[in-house]
Amino acid sequence: MTCKEAENLVMPYIRHELDVGQMEEFLEHIDQCDNCREELEIYYTVEVGIRQLDSDTDTDRYNIKGDMEADIIASRQEIYKARFITILHYAADTLMVMSLVVMLILQMRIWWQTGIF
Ligand SMILES: [Zn+2]
Repeated sequence: MTCKEAENLVMPYIRHELDVGQMEEFLEHIDQCDNCREELEIYYTVEVGIRQLDSDTDTDRYNIKGDMEADIIASRQEIYKARFITILHYAADTLMVMSLVVMLILQMRIWWQTGIF
């Protein structure tokens, strides 16, 4: 992902509008690129700051950077969960195909034994 692409995803990321794949690529870039990470921090601070002004609650907790880190950790957990589910699907698919093959082999053996072939 280029910096330009990452920049375009900053606001959607903060607003939780990215799908897991986009999120994964975005966070990967943020990990490696200090400029974009800084960009994210600035936008996050502004966005969350405005939201806190609007809601008028939590005015005494200005730990926006901590909030951002927490958000990133939550995103990573979401990515891991999605990856785990994908692996489960693959495993289930593989098992299903394998049992179909075994069933077919057993069935052919029965046909062969009963002289159909
Ligand atoms: Zn970058």
